[in-house]
Amino acid sequence: CAEVAMYRAKEMGRNNYQFYTPDMNARAHEFLEMENDLRRALDEDQFVLHYQPQVDMITGQLMGVEALLRWQHPQKGMIPPGDFIPLAEQTGLIIPIGDWVLRTACAQNRAWQDAGHPPVTMAVNISMRQFLQTDLVTEITRTLETTGLAPQFLEIEITESMLMSDFDNSLATLQALSRMGVRIAIDDFGSGFSSLSHLRLFPLHRLKIDRSFVRDLGDAPQSRAIAGSIVSLAWNLGLEPIAEGVEIEEQRDILCELGCRQAQGFLFARPLAAADFIEFLR
Ligand code: C2E
Ligand code: MG
Ligand code: MG
Ligand code: MG
Repeated sequence: CAEVAMYRAKEMGRNNYQFYTPDMNARAHEFLEMENDLRRALDEDQFVLHYQPQVDMITGQLMGVEALLRWQHPQKGMIPPGDFIPLAEQTGLIIPIGDWVLRTACAQNRAWQDAGHPPVTMAVNISMRQFLQTDLVTEITRTLETTGLAPQFLEIEITESMLMSDFDNSLATLQALSRMGVRIAIDDFGSGFSSLSHLRLFPLHRLKIDRSFVRDLGDAPQSRAIAGSIVSLAWNLGLEPIAEGVEIEEQRDILCELGCRQAQGFLFARPLAAADFIEFLR
């Protein structure tokens, strides 16, 4: 099967001849089984979203929430996105899965508003393939219409590499979304290699500082310098910086000193199931 071949070629590195081993067969089998499971997961409603609060570290106010996908596998239990999104990307299943995420996140946000909770912005992660190979503007327009969510309560998270891989297309997509009122965040900022001069041409709202810089804030002076530079860059581009992965008070304090007051991280809250998020709201 071509997909298995592609997967294996990618795993082994290009132009790298390998002798057949029984282990390869087992891996190919596991891959196919997982792909079949993944296909079934959509039909059988096995995906769930968890919601991680984004807070203002100074006032403690809730600023937004990020929707994070999980797969409730009937035998294997809760599977984190890192374990199946790469496969979903390779097989193209990420496109229907991504549609499901968008619909579910927007419907949930609308439901919270209808229940009388103060409105929050819901951030949704968009995959490379979803961004480059689908008509995201049409998809989002339709989703907002069917769920009745106002566009300013949806934020999409994309990465630097998505922006840079097809400049004209990305620009047109983001301009259309921004005109509609949808917000745009750059996820994992600093972990890719984006052209800063290009970055300024996109209609962006938030820059999310990658967790790798936050993690070392206390001990590595370089991390502090990088985080500080990203915060300044964000403000200079007219964007709000937000830090991801804040786990301890020291990181929070340094970020505040550096001028970044928004964050998400285990220090404030883990990603929560919908029912627990309601508790958090209360
Ligand atoms: P991300 O968008 O950068 O999401 C943040 C990740 O950091 C989440 O992992 C979250 O649980 C984790 N995190 C948050 N606070 C902390 C903390 O204080 N410490 C630590 N160690 N981790 C923290 P998760 O949920 O496993 O998601 C991993 C990645 O999977 C996400 O990274 C995102 O790239 C992707 N992903 C998640 N949901 C979706 C989705 O619906 N669609 C797509 N295309 N990708 C998704
Ligand atoms: Mg994200
Ligand atoms: Mg992130
Ligand atoms: Mg990240």
